[in-house]
Amino acid sequence: MNEILIQNTTAFFEKSFGSVPQKIVLSPGRINIIGEHIDYNDGYVLPAAIDKVICFAFEKNNTKKSKVIAIDLNEEFEIDLTQKVELNDAVWTNYIRGVIKQLQDNGFAFEGFNCVFSSNIPVGSGLSSSAALECGMIFGIAALFDLKIEKKDIALLGQKAEHWVGINCGIMDQFSSVHGLDNKVIKLDCNTLEFEYHNADFKDYSLILMDSNVKHSLFTSEYNTRRIECEQGLAIIKNHFPEIKTFRDCKEEQLLSIQDKFDPTVFKRVHFVVKEINRVIKACEALDKGNIELLGQLLFETHYGLSQEYAVSCEELDMLVDTAKADDAIIGSRLMGGGFGGCTINLIKKGHENEVKSKFSNLYLDTFGIELKFYDVKISNGTQLL
Ligand code: ADP
Ligand code: MG
Repeated sequence: MNEILIQNTTAFFEKSFGSVPQKIVLSPGRINIIGEHIDYNDGYVLPAAIDKVICFAFEKNNTKKSKVIAIDLNEEFEIDLTQKVELNDAVWTNYIRGVIKQLQDNGFAFEGFNCVFSSNIPVGSGLSSSAALECGMIFGIAALFDLKIEKKDIALLGQKAEHWVGINCGIMDQFSSVHGLDNKVIKLDCNTLEFEYHNADFKDYSLILMDSNVKHSLFTSEYNTRRIECEQGLAIIKNHFPEIKTFRDCKEEQLLSIQDKFDPTVFKRVHFVVKEINRVIKACEALDKGNIELLGQLLFETHYGLSQEYAVSCEELDMLVDTAKADDAIIGSRLMGGGFGGCTINLIKKGHENEVKSKFSNLYLDTFGIELKFYDVKISNGTQLL
């Protein structure tokens, strides 16, 4: 699948610039097995890079300007690297402007380059095409100009670029796009950025995403509200337990012992966060022991927490997960990503994939009049040079 993307990107580059690219970079999207809305709450998450990628082709052009072509949008832009970097109305260019700005502000010296890129990561479905774009650009510029940037710093620079664009994201997406490994999930401590790999062997089950094809506009405002609610909640916890620095240090019993100190809504939010961090630890143990049924149960628990306590679901996602819960061929399902739309992640018994897909697409179309999309994902390597 990626071979065709690589061929097309390279051919487009040759046609546009009349030369063979000097560097080709593949930068993947990501899934998150469990640990949702946890990266900005400084807890554990369990993401992995996938086999859907943005392919970039680069060359130096020996000028002080860079030209970048987005094949999928049939758009291009040019930037003078000697001028102050500013936001632009063409949103996709801002991710690249942001990357250039972050590299410059952090003292990395580079000159003009030409770049063409194209992707098979669905955009805006929660597979983090934006992180793939940022990290792939940084990786490519670093390779082209021999800049020594550690993987962790590529992720941090990518995150800063996204903040500059105006999205106050956590570190998980960029970190997993860069650090992914074939058949490994990454247990990441979002507070310290310490991480460890666990084998991603789902045994008799296939990992399949269902794309609800909706994106409700509540997303941004609710996201910002959750961040504020969690900050307020953490401040209350710290008041009563000064030894606690982050949610990760807080035991559920401690939280329950001070329940009456919280506004009920804030309590629901922080209760979810503390339980979700524990679920990530349990999920790693389940994977290590090959207990995929337990992993599946944890996914359902996460979904109902996201829906009822954290309140970031919507009727389309709830319907998909409720239907999955009632289906014997599916042992785990939850909304993945920020919520209010995007994908669910599902563990489906091997051999039953096709019947599940046709049942769900018919039901979804009948209920909402919307086409459901499916992505079979394979856990794969992080950002790499070809
Ligand atoms: P996602 O969940 O996919 O990260 P975002 O809204 O965070 O969704 O980021 C999507 C944005 O990233 C797009 O609107 C676009 O600006 C940029 N982007 C992603 N993929 C491409 C692409 N193939 N070509 C151009 N821009 C892209
Ligand atoms: Mg994104």
